[in-house]
Amino acid sequence: MTAPIAKLSFWGVRGSTPTVDPATWRYGGNTPCLELTAPDGTQFILDCGTGLRMLGSRWGMPNGGGHPETHIFVTHYHWDHIQGIPFFSPLYAENNEFHFYSFRSKYLGRDSLKQVFEAQMALPYFPVDMSAMNAKRKFKEVEGGDTFTVGENKITAKWLNHPQGCLGFRIETPAGIVAYATDNEPGDAKLDENLRELATGADIFINDAQFTPEQLATTRKGWGHSSWQEGVKLAREAGAKTLVLFHHDPDSTDRMVDSILRQAREEYDSVFAASEGMVITLGAAVDNVQAHMPGTRTTLRREAQFRAKVTGVTEGGKEFQEETVVRDISLQGALISLQNMPRLQSELQVTMETPGEDGLHSTMHLRGYVVRIDAGTEKGHSAVGVVFTD
Ligand SMILES: [Zn+2]
Ligand SMILES: [Zn+2]
Repeated sequence: MTAPIAKLSFWGVRGSTPTVDPATWRYGGNTPCLELTAPDGTQFILDCGTGLRMLGSRWGMPNGGGHPETHIFVTHYHWDHIQGIPFFSPLYAENNEFHFYSFRSKYLGRDSLKQVFEAQMALPYFPVDMSAMNAKRKFKEVEGGDTFTVGENKITAKWLNHPQGCLGFRIETPAGIVAYATDNEPGDAKLDENLRELATGADIFINDAQFTPEQLATTRKGWGHSSWQEGVKLAREAGAKTLVLFHHDPDSTDRMVDSILRQAREEYDSVFAASEGMVITLGAAVDNVQAHMPGTRTTLRREAQFRAKVTGVTEGGKEFQEETVVRDISLQGALISLQNMPRLQSELQVTMETPGEDGLHSTMHLRGYVVRIDAGTEKGHSAVGVVFTD
């Protein structure tokens, strides 16, 4: 018998509002949406941020997910957790069936989530109305303290500390336990205890890490979010195995998230920063938790032969140095010094020579797009910024 495996995919990890700033590209700019496929084949979707659109476009592809029945948990009704709904194409196909779970908001009353759907798609906010959504939709109200089962998986919902309320979900599958706790702020004893209960013994504990500890203590206090430090503290107290820092601030660049992750790793063994496209496998025989980054997140790739010296840190924390050959490189762009002045936003062909395998030179052809031109440092030259497209 093979060990049960669950797969957790991150489709959106950004908090508050989507970002398209290139400085936030590596971790990703889509708002919260996760997918969990349990060992029994049950498909769960956690939150409906803008990441949901990408999940929907994979729906029909081979191995692209897309189950006839899907269970969708919505933690709360802030924009960043619902704004992917109208753009989720499987909702428009009548063979699909969706079970939505969310709480009754005191601001909306009965059928809160259904009302959210209708309001989002009311004219003139969206070009088509609800009648275009042909998939079967069932809405179930849940609230903090509820437990129920879906397939062979046990779900627990708990209230978290967040303006207008937010639910955290704990999903116990035969391959491991996932605790999803986005949008929460520490400081309310009872709700802090809820968070601890959700995270107890979890294999994966996904926690809000929007702010730095300094921000959380000062300018962002009361905004309903948390920090890496709170996540580490909680993970330690609750005995969670792996902490995933989630809901990155829209103003946090990739470098800032890198720094947040580095600090968290100094204090806790197993931490990841949620990243769009990241997939975590639970229950694998060798390593209980494996995280994979998708190749598609790297930009234009070219085969190459560059000799390189690599220094870094091993998994065990030891520094290493090694000489090797770079065999493929991803290229986003370059700054090129030119005597000619190319037209802004025109195409440019660039051919570069690389030392080949046997010392012979080979060439790398690239097509680029001129995105900026500055006065060069060399006299009579311009510095031409190029983004490679092909
Ligand atoms: Zn949020
Ligand atoms: Zn929120």
